[in-house]
Amino acid sequence: MSAPDGRRPAHDSSEAPPAGSRRGASVTGVAVLGSTGSIGRSALKVLGRQRERFRVVALTAFGQKEQLEAQVAAFQPEFVGLVRGDSSNGWRRGAECLVEAVTHPDVRIVVNGIVGAAGLEATLAALQAGKRVALANKETLVMAGELVTRTARECGGEIVPVDSEHSAVLQCVAGHPAAGLQRLILTASGGPFHAWEAERVRHATVAEALNHPTWRMGRKISVDSATLANKALEVIEAHFLFGLPYDRIEAVVHPQSIIHSFVEFVDGSVLAQLGFPNMELPILYALTHPERVADDGIVRFDPVAAGPLTFEPVRTEVFPALALGMRAGRTGGSAPAVFNAANEVAVAAFLDGRAPFGRIAEVIARVLEEQVVTEVSSVDAVLAADAWARRRAEELLRCS
Ligand code: NAD
Ligand code: MG
Repeated sequence: MSAPDGRRPAHDSSEAPPAGSRRGASVTGVAVLGSTGSIGRSALKVLGRQRERFRVVALTAFGQKEQLEAQVAAFQPEFVGLVRGDSSNGWRRGAECLVEAVTHPDVRIVVNGIVGAAGLEATLAALQAGKRVALANKETLVMAGELVTRTARECGGEIVPVDSEHSAVLQCVAGHPAAGLQRLILTASGGPFHAWEAERVRHATVAEALNHPTWRMGRKISVDSATLANKALEVIEAHFLFGLPYDRIEAVVHPQSIIHSFVEFVDGSVLAQLGFPNMELPILYALTHPERVADDGIVRFDPVAAGPLTFEPVRTEVFPALALGMRAGRTGGSAPAVFNAANEVAVAAFLDGRAPFGRIAEVIARVLEEQVVTEVSSVDAVLAADAWARRRAEELLRCS
Protein backbone atom coordinates (compact mmCIF):
# COMPACT_ATOMS: atom_id res chain seq x y z
CA MET A 1 0.00 0.00 0.00
CA SER A 2 1.21 3.54 -0.64
CA ALA A 3 0.17 6.69 1.21
CA PRO A 4 -2.45 8.99 -0.40
CA ASP A 5 0.20 11.42 -1.61
CA GLY A 6 2.14 8.61 -3.28
CA ARG A 7 4.82 8.35 -0.60
CA ARG A 8 5.74 4.94 0.66
CA PRO A 9 4.05 4.72 4.07
CA ALA A 10 6.23 4.33 7.11
CA HIS A 11 4.70 0.97 7.93
CA ASP A 12 4.91 -0.57 4.43
CA SER A 13 6.72 -3.86 4.66
CA SER A 14 6.16 -5.04 1.09
CA GLU A 15 9.88 -5.18 0.28
CA ALA A 16 11.15 -6.88 3.41
CA PRO A 17 10.46 -10.47 4.39
CA PRO A 18 7.95 -10.55 7.23
CA ALA A 19 9.73 -10.32 10.57
CA GLY A 20 9.19 -13.39 12.68
CA SER A 21 8.30 -15.37 9.54
CA ARG A 22 8.71 -19.13 9.83
CA ARG A 23 9.49 -19.40 6.13
CA GLY A 24 13.11 -18.37 6.70
CA ALA A 25 13.07 -20.60 9.80
CA SER A 26 15.56 -18.27 11.47
CA VAL A 27 14.86 -16.71 14.83
CA THR A 28 14.46 -12.89 14.74
CA GLY A 29 16.57 -10.85 17.21
CA VAL A 30 14.69 -8.24 19.24
CA ALA A 31 15.81 -5.32 21.41
CA VAL A 32 13.40 -4.11 24.10
CA LEU A 33 14.04 -0.51 25.18
CA GLY A 34 12.34 0.42 28.44
CA SER A 35 12.05 -3.27 29.35
CA THR A 36 11.09 -2.53 32.96
CA GLY A 37 8.10 -0.35 32.03
CA SER A 38 4.51 -1.30 31.34
CA ILE A 39 5.09 -1.82 27.58
CA GLY A 40 8.48 -3.46 28.16
CA ARG A 41 7.05 -6.00 30.60
CA SER A 42 4.15 -6.82 28.27
CA ALA A 43 6.62 -7.21 25.38
CA LEU A 44 8.69 -9.66 27.40
CA LYS A 45 5.59 -11.70 28.24
CA VAL A 46 4.86 -12.02 24.51
CA LEU A 47 8.51 -12.74 23.65
CA GLY A 48 8.69 -15.34 26.42
CA ARG A 49 5.88 -17.26 24.73
CA GLN A 50 7.28 -16.80 21.22
CA ARG A 51 10.81 -18.10 21.73
CA GLU A 52 10.54 -20.22 18.60
CA ARG A 53 10.27 -17.08 16.49
CA PHE A 54 12.00 -14.37 18.50
CA ARG A 55 15.11 -14.08 20.65
CA VAL A 56 15.71 -11.21 23.08
CA VAL A 57 19.11 -9.83 22.09
CA ALA A 58 19.15 -6.54 24.01
CA LEU A 59 17.39 -5.01 27.02
CA THR A 60 17.65 -1.46 28.35
CA ALA A 61 16.12 0.38 31.31
CA PHE A 62 16.52 3.73 33.03
CA GLY A 63 16.90 2.44 36.60
CA GLN A 64 15.02 -0.43 38.25
CA LYS A 65 18.22 -2.47 38.39
CA GLU A 66 16.78 -5.43 40.32
CA GLN A 67 13.91 -5.83 37.88
CA LEU A 68 16.34 -5.64 34.97
CA GLU A 69 18.53 -8.28 36.63
CA ALA A 70 15.57 -10.65 36.84
CA GLN A 71 14.78 -10.06 33.15
CA VAL A 72 18.42 -10.69 32.20
CA ALA A 73 18.34 -13.97 34.13
CA ALA A 74 15.15 -15.03 32.33
CA PHE A 75 16.13 -14.03 28.76
CA GLN A 76 19.97 -14.12 28.72
CA PRO A 77 20.34 -11.22 26.26
CA GLU A 78 23.72 -10.49 24.69
CA PHE A 79 23.45 -6.77 25.46
CA VAL A 80 22.18 -5.01 28.59
CA GLY A 81 22.05 -1.23 29.01
CA LEU A 82 21.31 0.77 32.15
CA VAL A 83 20.75 4.44 31.30
CA ARG A 84 20.99 5.58 34.92
CA GLY A 85 22.26 3.65 37.93
CA ASP A 86 25.30 1.64 38.95
CA SER A 87 26.19 -1.76 37.61
CA SER A 88 29.34 -3.79 37.80
CA ASN A 89 28.37 -6.78 35.71
CA GLY A 90 29.40 -5.82 32.20
CA TRP A 91 26.25 -3.86 31.42
CA ARG A 92 26.60 -0.74 29.28
CA ARG A 93 25.85 2.54 31.06
CA GLY A 94 24.55 5.98 30.11
CA ALA A 95 22.18 7.27 27.44
CA GLU A 96 24.51 6.03 24.64
CA CYS A 97 23.55 2.46 25.46
CA LEU A 98 20.20 2.95 23.66
CA VAL A 99 21.82 3.49 20.25
CA GLU A 100 24.29 0.67 20.93
CA ALA A 101 21.38 -1.66 21.73
CA VAL A 102 19.40 -0.90 18.56
CA THR A 103 22.43 -1.08 16.26
CA HIS A 104 23.54 -4.45 17.66
CA PRO A 105 24.06 -6.60 14.55
CA ASP A 106 21.77 -9.39 15.80
CA VAL A 107 18.83 -7.02 16.39
CA ARG A 108 16.22 -6.96 13.61
CA ILE A 109 13.27 -5.48 15.55
CA VAL A 110 13.38 -2.77 18.20
CA VAL A 111 10.47 -2.49 20.63
CA ASN A 112 10.70 1.13 21.75
CA GLY A 113 8.91 1.28 25.10
CA ILE A 114 10.76 4.33 26.42
CA VAL A 115 8.56 7.13 27.72
CA GLY A 116 9.02 10.64 26.32
CA ALA A 117 11.50 12.49 24.13
CA ALA A 118 14.41 10.37 25.42
CA GLY A 119 13.45 7.70 22.85
CA LEU A 120 14.14 9.82 19.73
CA GLU A 121 17.78 9.05 19.05
CA ALA A 122 17.24 5.30 19.38
CA THR A 123 14.26 5.33 16.99
CA LEU A 124 16.26 7.28 14.39
CA ALA A 125 19.33 5.05 14.81
CA ALA A 126 17.25 1.89 14.37
CA LEU A 127 15.53 3.24 11.25
CA GLN A 128 18.87 4.42 9.84
CA ALA A 129 20.16 0.88 10.28
CA GLY A 130 17.13 -0.39 8.28
CA LYS A 131 15.42 -2.12 11.22
CA ARG A 132 11.79 -2.47 12.21
CA VAL A 133 10.75 -0.25 15.09
CA ALA A 134 7.72 -1.56 16.99
CA LEU A 135 6.91 1.90 18.29
CA ALA A 136 5.13 2.53 21.58
CA ASN A 137 7.15 5.69 22.22
CA LYS A 138 4.64 7.99 20.47
CA GLU A 139 6.21 11.21 21.80
CA THR A 140 9.14 10.89 19.41
CA LEU A 141 6.92 10.45 16.34
CA VAL A 142 4.98 13.52 17.44
CA MET A 143 8.03 15.71 18.03
CA ALA A 144 9.86 14.68 14.85
CA GLY A 145 7.25 13.09 12.59
CA GLU A 146 8.65 14.36 9.27
CA LEU A 147 12.19 13.41 10.20
CA VAL A 148 11.33 9.98 11.58
CA THR A 149 9.11 8.95 8.65
CA ARG A 150 11.63 10.33 6.12
CA THR A 151 14.44 8.38 7.81
CA ALA A 152 12.34 5.21 7.59
CA ARG A 153 11.66 5.76 3.88
CA GLU A 154 15.19 6.67 2.93
CA CYS A 155 17.01 4.03 4.96
CA GLY A 156 14.66 1.07 4.49
CA GLY A 157 13.61 1.03 8.13
CA GLU A 158 10.02 0.40 9.10
CA ILE A 159 7.76 1.85 11.81
CA VAL A 160 5.04 -0.49 13.02
CA PRO A 161 2.80 1.03 15.70
CA VAL A 162 2.30 -0.61 19.09
CA ASP A 163 -0.23 1.98 20.30
CA SER A 164 -3.53 0.08 20.35
CA GLU A 165 -5.46 2.61 18.22
CA HIS A 166 -2.81 2.67 15.51
CA SER A 167 -2.39 -1.07 15.60
CA ALA A 168 -6.16 -1.27 15.06
CA VAL A 169 -5.96 1.09 12.08
CA LEU A 170 -3.04 -0.85 10.61
CA GLN A 171 -4.92 -4.13 11.03
CA CYS A 172 -7.98 -2.61 9.28
CA VAL A 173 -6.07 -1.02 6.36
CA ALA A 174 -3.65 -3.92 5.77
CA GLY A 175 -4.34 -5.23 2.27
CA HIS A 176 -6.48 -2.23 1.23
CA PRO A 177 -5.18 0.30 -1.32
CA ALA A 178 -4.49 3.64 0.39
CA ALA A 179 -6.62 5.48 -2.17
CA GLY A 180 -9.69 3.83 -0.64
CA LEU A 181 -9.06 5.28 2.80
CA GLN A 182 -11.43 8.09 3.80
CA ARG A 183 -11.29 8.75 7.55
CA LEU A 184 -9.84 7.45 10.80
CA ILE A 185 -11.87 7.56 14.02
CA LEU A 186 -9.61 6.93 16.99
CA THR A 187 -11.38 5.75 20.11
CA ALA A 188 -10.56 7.25 23.53
CA SER A 189 -11.56 5.76 26.86
CA GLY A 190 -12.11 9.33 28.05
CA GLY A 191 -9.86 8.61 31.05
CA PRO A 192 -10.89 8.62 34.71
CA PHE A 193 -12.60 12.04 34.44
CA HIS A 194 -14.68 11.54 31.34
CA ALA A 195 -17.95 12.18 33.19
CA TRP A 196 -16.66 14.67 35.81
CA GLU A 197 -17.68 18.33 36.14
CA ALA A 198 -15.07 20.76 34.74
CA GLU A 199 -14.27 22.33 38.14
CA ARG A 200 -13.68 18.95 39.79
CA VAL A 201 -11.37 17.92 36.93
CA ARG A 202 -9.22 21.04 37.38
CA HIS A 203 -8.43 20.03 40.98
CA ALA A 204 -8.11 16.26 40.52
CA THR A 205 -5.38 14.61 42.59
CA VAL A 206 -2.47 12.52 41.33
CA ALA A 207 -4.06 9.32 42.68
CA GLU A 208 -7.31 10.15 40.86
CA ALA A 209 -5.49 10.89 37.60
CA LEU A 210 -3.53 7.62 37.79
CA ASN A 211 -6.66 5.58 38.38
CA HIS A 212 -7.34 4.77 34.72
CA PRO A 213 -10.66 2.95 34.20
CA THR A 214 -9.58 0.43 31.52
CA TRP A 215 -5.76 0.38 31.06
CA ARG A 216 -2.86 -0.20 33.51
CA MET A 217 -0.01 1.92 32.16
CA GLY A 218 2.98 4.03 33.17
CA ARG A 219 2.38 7.26 35.11
CA LYS A 220 3.03 9.73 32.29
CA ILE A 221 0.65 8.16 29.75
CA SER A 222 -1.96 7.68 32.49
CA VAL A 223 -1.96 11.44 33.13
CA ASP A 224 -2.01 12.09 29.37
CA SER A 225 -5.10 9.89 29.16
CA ALA A 226 -6.75 11.90 31.94
CA THR A 227 -6.08 15.27 30.20
CA LEU A 228 -6.76 13.76 26.73
CA ALA A 229 -3.35 15.10 25.63
CA ASN A 230 -2.75 11.41 24.83
CA LYS A 231 -5.45 11.52 22.13
CA ALA A 232 -3.87 14.64 20.61
CA LEU A 233 -0.50 12.83 20.54
CA GLU A 234 -2.28 9.90 18.87
CA VAL A 235 -3.99 12.04 16.21
CA ILE A 236 -0.57 13.46 15.28
CA GLU A 237 0.91 9.95 15.41
CA ALA A 238 -1.83 8.72 13.04
CA HIS A 239 -1.21 11.62 10.66
CA PHE A 240 2.44 10.66 10.29
CA LEU A 241 1.89 6.90 10.21
CA PHE A 242 -0.96 6.78 7.72
CA GLY A 243 -0.38 10.00 5.75
CA LEU A 244 -3.92 11.36 6.20
CA PRO A 245 -4.62 15.11 6.63
CA TYR A 246 -5.87 16.22 10.04
CA ASP A 247 -9.43 16.93 8.85
CA ARG A 248 -9.79 13.19 8.19
CA ILE A 249 -8.69 12.03 11.66
CA GLU A 250 -11.20 12.24 14.51
CA ALA A 251 -11.57 11.05 18.10
CA VAL A 252 -14.62 9.62 19.85
CA VAL A 253 -15.03 8.63 23.50
CA HIS A 254 -15.67 4.90 23.98
CA PRO A 255 -15.46 4.22 27.74
CA GLN A 256 -15.22 0.40 27.46
CA SER A 257 -11.98 0.43 25.34
CA ILE A 258 -13.12 -2.62 23.35
CA ILE A 259 -13.13 -1.09 19.86
CA HIS A 260 -9.59 0.18 19.37
CA SER A 261 -10.39 2.40 16.35
CA PHE A 262 -12.52 2.67 13.20
CA VAL A 263 -11.40 3.07 9.60
CA GLU A 264 -13.86 4.48 7.06
CA PHE A 265 -13.31 3.80 3.35
CA VAL A 266 -14.44 6.01 0.44
CA ASP A 267 -17.50 3.83 -0.22
CA GLY A 268 -18.76 4.46 3.33
CA SER A 269 -17.81 1.04 4.66
CA VAL A 270 -16.31 1.09 8.16
CA LEU A 271 -13.95 -1.51 9.64
CA ALA A 272 -13.00 -1.71 13.30
CA GLN A 273 -10.67 -3.87 15.38
CA LEU A 274 -11.87 -5.21 18.74
CA GLY A 275 -10.38 -6.87 21.79
CA PHE A 276 -10.19 -6.58 25.55
CA PRO A 277 -7.85 -3.77 26.63
CA ASN A 278 -4.46 -5.49 26.82
CA MET A 279 -1.27 -4.39 25.06
CA GLU A 280 0.04 -7.89 24.41
CA LEU A 281 -1.98 -8.29 21.20
CA PRO A 282 -0.83 -5.02 19.56
CA ILE A 283 2.76 -5.83 20.63
CA LEU A 284 2.52 -9.31 19.10
CA TYR A 285 1.08 -7.88 15.89
CA ALA A 286 3.85 -5.25 15.69
CA LEU A 287 6.39 -8.08 15.88
CA THR A 288 4.75 -10.31 13.24
CA HIS A 289 2.95 -7.84 10.88
CA PRO A 290 1.73 -8.53 8.24
CA GLU A 291 1.54 -12.14 9.40
CA ARG A 292 -0.56 -13.41 12.29
CA VAL A 293 0.68 -16.10 14.61
CA ALA A 294 -1.05 -18.16 17.28
CA ASP A 295 -0.36 -17.19 20.90
CA ASP A 296 -2.16 -19.00 23.69
CA GLY A 297 -1.43 -16.19 26.17
CA ILE A 298 -3.63 -13.64 24.40
CA VAL A 299 -6.95 -13.08 26.19
CA ARG A 300 -9.68 -14.34 23.86
CA PHE A 301 -12.60 -12.07 22.99
CA ASP A 302 -16.09 -12.67 24.37
CA PRO A 303 -18.79 -10.28 23.10
CA VAL A 304 -21.12 -11.00 26.00
CA ALA A 305 -18.41 -10.28 28.59
CA ALA A 306 -17.49 -7.12 26.64
CA GLY A 307 -21.03 -5.90 27.37
CA PRO A 308 -22.78 -2.92 25.77
CA LEU A 309 -20.46 -0.67 23.76
CA THR A 310 -21.17 3.06 23.96
CA PHE A 311 -19.81 6.18 22.23
CA GLU A 312 -19.86 9.85 23.19
CA PRO A 313 -18.45 13.03 21.71
CA VAL A 314 -15.29 14.37 23.37
CA ARG A 315 -16.08 17.18 25.85
CA THR A 316 -13.46 19.50 24.38
CA GLU A 317 -14.29 22.36 26.78
CA VAL A 318 -13.42 20.19 29.81
CA PHE A 319 -10.29 18.70 28.19
CA PRO A 320 -8.57 21.61 26.36
CA ALA A 321 -5.31 19.67 25.85
CA LEU A 322 -6.89 17.72 22.99
CA ALA A 323 -7.74 20.77 20.87
CA LEU A 324 -4.39 22.39 21.73
CA GLY A 325 -2.49 19.35 20.51
CA MET A 326 -4.60 18.96 17.37
CA ARG A 327 -4.02 22.62 16.52
CA ALA A 328 -0.27 22.12 17.03
CA GLY A 329 -0.46 19.16 14.65
CA ARG A 330 -2.20 21.27 11.99
CA THR A 331 0.31 24.09 12.46
CA GLY A 332 3.12 21.62 11.82
CA GLY A 333 6.84 22.50 11.84
CA SER A 334 8.11 22.73 15.40
CA ALA A 335 4.62 23.09 16.95
CA PRO A 336 4.06 19.38 17.74
CA ALA A 337 7.52 19.19 19.39
CA VAL A 338 6.66 22.27 21.45
CA PHE A 339 3.29 20.79 22.44
CA ASN A 340 4.94 17.51 23.44
CA ALA A 341 7.74 19.13 25.46
CA ALA A 342 5.42 21.53 27.31
CA ASN A 343 3.15 18.61 28.11
CA GLU A 344 6.00 16.42 29.39
CA VAL A 345 7.22 19.20 31.72
CA ALA A 346 3.73 20.08 32.98
CA VAL A 347 2.84 16.43 33.59
CA ALA A 348 6.07 15.89 35.55
CA ALA A 349 5.23 18.97 37.66
CA PHE A 350 1.73 17.65 38.34
CA LEU A 351 3.11 14.22 39.32
CA ASP A 352 5.63 15.93 41.66
CA GLY A 353 2.86 17.91 43.35
CA ARG A 354 4.16 21.21 41.91
CA ALA A 355 1.08 22.00 39.82
CA PRO A 356 -2.67 21.33 39.98
CA PHE A 357 -4.18 19.15 37.25
CA GLY A 358 -5.80 22.12 35.48
CA ARG A 359 -2.42 23.84 35.16
CA ILE A 360 -1.17 21.22 32.66
CA ALA A 361 -3.34 22.49 29.80
CA GLU A 362 -2.81 26.14 30.81
CA VAL A 363 0.97 25.77 30.59
CA ILE A 364 0.72 24.00 27.23
CA ALA A 365 -1.55 26.78 25.90
CA ARG A 366 0.82 29.57 27.03
CA VAL A 367 3.93 27.89 25.60
CA LEU A 368 2.17 27.27 22.27
CA GLU A 369 0.98 30.91 22.15
CA GLU A 370 4.49 32.22 22.66
CA GLN A 371 6.27 29.87 20.26
CA VAL A 372 7.87 30.99 17.02
CA VAL A 373 7.11 28.11 14.66
CA THR A 374 10.14 26.93 12.69
CA GLU A 375 10.90 24.19 10.18
CA VAL A 376 12.27 21.06 11.84
CA SER A 377 14.10 19.10 9.18
CA SER A 378 17.08 18.17 11.36
CA VAL A 379 17.47 16.53 14.77
CA ASP A 380 19.15 19.71 16.04
CA ALA A 381 16.15 21.82 15.01
CA VAL A 382 13.76 19.42 16.77
CA LEU A 383 15.88 19.39 19.91
CA ALA A 384 16.14 23.20 19.90
CA ALA A 385 12.34 23.54 19.78
CA ASP A 386 12.01 20.89 22.49
CA ALA A 387 14.58 22.62 24.74
CA TRP A 388 12.98 26.05 24.33
CA ALA A 389 9.52 24.69 25.20
CA ARG A 390 10.84 22.84 28.26
CA ARG A 391 12.59 25.99 29.56
CA ARG A 392 9.53 28.14 29.00
CA ALA A 393 7.16 25.61 30.62
CA GLU A 394 9.44 25.37 33.68
CA GLU A 395 9.50 29.19 33.98
CA LEU A 396 5.71 29.37 33.80
CA LEU A 397 5.37 26.63 36.42
CA ARG A 398 7.73 28.48 38.78
CA CYS A 399 5.64 31.65 38.45
CA SER A 400 2.32 30.02 39.33
P1 NAD B 1 6.61 3.27 31.89
O1 NAD B 1 6.86 4.51 32.67
O2 NAD B 1 5.89 2.15 32.53
O3 NAD B 1 8.00 2.69 31.33
C1 NAD B 1 8.96 3.50 30.74
C2 NAD B 1 10.24 2.72 30.48
O4 NAD B 1 11.20 3.62 29.88
C3 NAD B 1 10.92 2.15 31.73
O5 NAD B 1 11.50 0.92 31.43
C4 NAD B 1 12.03 3.17 32.05
O6 NAD B 1 13.13 2.55 32.68
C5 NAD B 1 12.39 3.66 30.65
N1 NAD B 1 12.86 5.05 30.67
C6 NAD B 1 12.31 6.10 31.33
N2 NAD B 1 13.01 7.23 31.10
C7 NAD B 1 14.02 6.88 30.27
C8 NAD B 1 15.11 7.60 29.69
N3 NAD B 1 15.29 8.92 29.93
N4 NAD B 1 15.97 6.94 28.91
C9 NAD B 1 15.81 5.61 28.67
N5 NAD B 1 14.81 4.87 29.21
C10 NAD B 1 13.92 5.51 29.99
O7 NAD B 1 5.84 3.75 30.55
P2 NAD B 1 4.87 2.89 29.62
O8 NAD B 1 3.49 3.00 30.08
O9 NAD B 1 5.46 1.56 29.37
O10 NAD B 1 4.93 3.75 28.27
C11 NAD B 1 6.06 3.72 27.42
C12 NAD B 1 5.70 4.39 26.09
O11 NAD B 1 4.68 3.62 25.47
C13 NAD B 1 5.14 5.81 26.24
O12 NAD B 1 5.55 6.57 25.15
C14 NAD B 1 3.64 5.59 26.18
O13 NAD B 1 2.96 6.72 25.69
C15 NAD B 1 3.54 4.44 25.19
N6 NAD B 1 2.34 3.60 25.32
C16 NAD B 1 2.11 2.91 26.47
C17 NAD B 1 0.97 2.12 26.58
C18 NAD B 1 0.73 1.29 27.83
O14 NAD B 1 -0.24 0.53 27.86
N7 NAD B 1 1.54 1.38 28.85
C19 NAD B 1 0.07 2.05 25.51
C20 NAD B 1 0.32 2.77 24.35
C21 NAD B 1 1.48 3.54 24.27
MG1 MG C 1 -3.29 4.47 22.66
